[in-house]
Amino acid sequence: MSHKSGFVNIIGSPNVGKSTLMNQLVGEKLSIITSKMQTTRHRIMGMVNEKDYQIVFSDTPGIIAPGYKLHENMMKYVAEALKDADVVMMVTDIYEDPEKIKDRLTQINQLKVPVILLVNKIDQSDQSALELTIEKWKKYLPKAQILPISALHNMSIEFILPKLLEWLPENPPYFDKDQLTNKNMRFFVSEIIREKILILYQKEVPYSCEVTVEEYKDEEKITKIRANIMVSRNSQKAIIIGHQGKKIKKLGTDARIDIEAFIMKKVHLELYVKLDKDWRDKDQKLKRYGY
Ligand code: GDP
Ligand code: MG
Repeated sequence: MSHKSGFVNIIGSPNVGKSTLMNQLVGEKLSIITSKMQTTRHRIMGMVNEKDYQIVFSDTPGIIAPGYKLHENMMKYVAEALKDADVVMMVTDIYEDPEKIKDRLTQINQLKVPVILLVNKIDQSDQSALELTIEKWKKYLPKAQILPISALHNMSIEFILPKLLEWLPENPPYFDKDQLTNKNMRFFVSEIIREKILILYQKEVPYSCEVTVEEYKDEEKITKIRANIMVSRNSQKAIIIGHQGKKIKKLGTDARIDIEAFIMKKVHLELYVKLDKDWRDKDQKLKRYGY
């Protein structure tokens, strides 16, 4: 019996719904989602395993012009994702203007692999506006398959998989068939905490934070987790902690509830705030944080 396997790499501008789509396709919440820009910092793989195929999806950070070294490293994941793709899945939404990213679209047109363009958030559009949008994108990506979807509301998602299977090469599986992702539990725990930081704090603060899991102890009835929130300026410590520690308490509770749901076990979560001055612009620090 033949077996298909390959890499489907998801790229696109920030906030168009790449992570929402990846989670829908994989059927698990692997990638964190918020309405804020630059939520996704890493390349996260999610596998869909069946008897005769294995699809390895990669979610990537949104494409941006780098401001910090952190951003440069984030964009390396995007470049990497373009190189090893068997299929490129570009996500846009009904609001994005292709004219504004036409240089990138020219690059994508030159790719040798199949490209599928998903126009997301159709729940917020009507039929006639949508037709115009699709016509517009066709001019910029003439070779791509274009499919309007809503990742959030699970509309037309079912058309994606058959298309991909048509294109994927015959290969043995790249990963164990029971493997769901390339990241470990510690990574997902730190990502869940980071998601709550993005939701609870304003402006620059979430972008200045990194989360490290210092201890992850699986006991019979409970998992004990100790994590550090690293801030890049001293003044941000007090902001994270909040008046009488109320803010960090809320952060801890919200994160714990989600971690418990993710690992399906009771969790004891301890959070500490630490200063790591200007970590976003130092190579050695970025390396330590896995960028
Ligand atoms: P990413 O930055 O491309 O990974 O985008 P996210 O997946 O983090 O989503 C960004 C925002 O768009 C979040 O607030 C999502 O809930 C929202 N979103 C994603 N898909 C849809 C959709 O189909 N319809 C609507 N209305 N919102 C969506
Ligand atoms: Mg994302």
